[in-house]
Amino acid sequence: MYPNTSLFIDGAWSPAASGKTLEVLSPATGESVGKVAHADKADLDRALASADKAFHVWSKTSAHERYKIMRKAADILRTRIDQIAPIMTMEQGKPLAEAKGETGLAPDLIDWFAEEARRTYGRTIPARADGVVQLVFKEPVGPVAAFTPWNFPINQAVRKISIALAAGCSIIVKGPEETPAACAELVKAFADAGVPQGVINLVYGVPADISNYLIPHPVIRKISFTGSTAVGKQLAALAGQHMKRITMELGGHAPAIVFDDADVDVAVKILAANKFRNAGQVCVSPTRFLIQESVYDTFVDKFTTFAKKLKVGDGLDKDTRMGPMANARRLDAMDDFVSDAVQKGAKVETGGKRIGNKGFFFEPTVLKDVPTSAKIMNEEPFGPVAAFQPFDTFDNVVKEANRLNYGLAAYAYTKSAKTAEAIGHSIESGMVSINHHGLALPEVPFGGVKDSGFGSEGGSEALDSYMNFKFVTQAGL
Ligand code: NAD
Repeated sequence: MYPNTSLFIDGAWSPAASGKTLEVLSPATGESVGKVAHADKADLDRALASADKAFHVWSKTSAHERYKIMRKAADILRTRIDQIAPIMTMEQGKPLAEAKGETGLAPDLIDWFAEEARRTYGRTIPARADGVVQLVFKEPVGPVAAFTPWNFPINQAVRKISIALAAGCSIIVKGPEETPAACAELVKAFADAGVPQGVINLVYGVPADISNYLIPHPVIRKISFTGSTAVGKQLAALAGQHMKRITMELGGHAPAIVFDDADVDVAVKILAANKFRNAGQVCVSPTRFLIQESVYDTFVDKFTTFAKKLKVGDGLDKDTRMGPMANARRLDAMDDFVSDAVQKGAKVETGGKRIGNKGFFFEPTVLKDVPTSAKIMNEEPFGPVAAFQPFDTFDNVVKEANRLNYGLAAYAYTKSAKTAEAIGHSIESGMVSINHHGLALPEVPFGGVKDSGFGSEGGSEALDSYMNFKFVTQAGL
C-alpha cells in the first residue's frame, strides 16, 4: 500500500549509492510504514552534475515548450489525486479530504506558473542617444537547491519546482524525509510529462549535511527553503557567504483579530476550521486570537464548542476532521506550550493533552486569558492549540499584532470598511486576510516579512527571484 521511496537523479529512480535508507513512520500508529533512500555525497555529486547539464538544455528550451510540458504534468497529476492522497495521509497524518485538497491544488499551481513562463517579458528602455537600444533580458538564475518540509509534502515542493521550471532553471529538491512518498509522486508526474532528464532531481538524507554541501557548491545559484525561522536564518547566512540568491518561507505567528462589530459566527467558523487544519501544522495558521472585550467570552465559548466537536482520528477514516501530529517532536512541543501557559495563568477551556499512547494524537486545545509572557504568545506553536487574549482599542491590538518579529499571515474580522482598511495598512505582515480566509492561491503572492522570510512563492512576483536581469545596451555601428 505505502511505497518505498528512491532518489530521482538524472532522470532515473535509484537507491542511494551506499544502500542506506531511513524509516518512514505512520503518525497514526507510530510504526514504520516504509523506507526512503538516504543520499550521501556520492548521490549529491551525481545530482549536481545532472542539474548542471540539464540547466543548459532547459534554459535553452523555449518558454512555449516549457509551458506545454508543465501543463501536461498538471494534467497527469489531476488524474492521480485519488491514488496520491492516501499515501500522503499515511505518511503525514492529515485527513484524506485535506490530502486530496493539497494534491488537487498542485496542478493549479503548475498551470499558473506554466502560463507565467510565457510572460517573463524583458523591457526596452528609451535611450538618451540616437541609435542606442537599451534592453533588459530576464534569464534563469541557474540550478536551484530547494528544501521542502513535512507539513505539506506536495504543496511546498510543487511551488519551488514549478517556479524553477517556469523560469528555465533546473532543480535539486531535498524532500521531506518524514513524508517522502507523496513528494516523489509529484516528481513522477513531471517526469512522465516529459521534463528532460536531470531538470528535476529529488534527494533525501540528513538535512544539514545536504544543505551544507549543496548551498556553497558552485553549480547551485539559488536557494529556496521552507521551514523554521531558526534553520532559515542558518541557511540564509550560508547562502550569503556564497552570494547565492534566496527565497525563504519561514515560521509565522499569525494574529487573528476579531473586532466587536464582526459577525462572530462567521469568524468562529472560518478561524476555527483553519486553526485545526493539518492539526495546526501550517505556517499561516491563526495563532494569537485577539478578541475585542465585549465579544471575548462569547467568541471563546463558540470556538471551544467547535473544538470539542472536532472528530480526531486516523486521517484515513472518513469521519476524521483532524489527524495526528506529524511526528513525536510536535507532541512534546504541545505539552510544553500548554504547561507553560497554564503555569503563567492561562485557563484550559478544552483539550491540553495527548490522546492515547499510540500514534501522535493531541487534543484540539483552547487556552483562555493567556498572558503575553507565555511561550505560546511568542514562539510558533505549530500545533492544534489556540491562545486567546482580549483587547480594548484598535491601537492596542495593532501594537500586539506587530509585537513579534514574525510577519507571515494575519487575519481580521470587522463589519466596518474603515477598520478593515486601517487594519490592512497597519499590520506588519506579508499577507493579511480580512473577513475570509483567502491565502495561498497560485495567482497571489505568498511570503512573509521580518523573521518570516524573504520573497514570494506565489503570484507573478515569484518568478523574478529565480531570474537574473541582464542589461544590454547597443549602439548602431
Ligand atoms: P526543524 O527546524 O529541525 O526543521 C524544519 C524543516 O527544516 C524540516 O523540513 C527539516 O527537514 C528542515 N531542516 C532542518 N534543518 C535543516 C538544515 N540544516 N538544512 C536544510 N533543511 C533543514 O524542526 P521540525 O521539528 O522539523 O519542525 C519544527 C518547526 O519547524 C515548527 O515549529 C515550525 O516552526 C517549523 N516548520 C515550518 C514550516 C513552514 O511551512 N514554514 C514547515 C515545517 C516546519
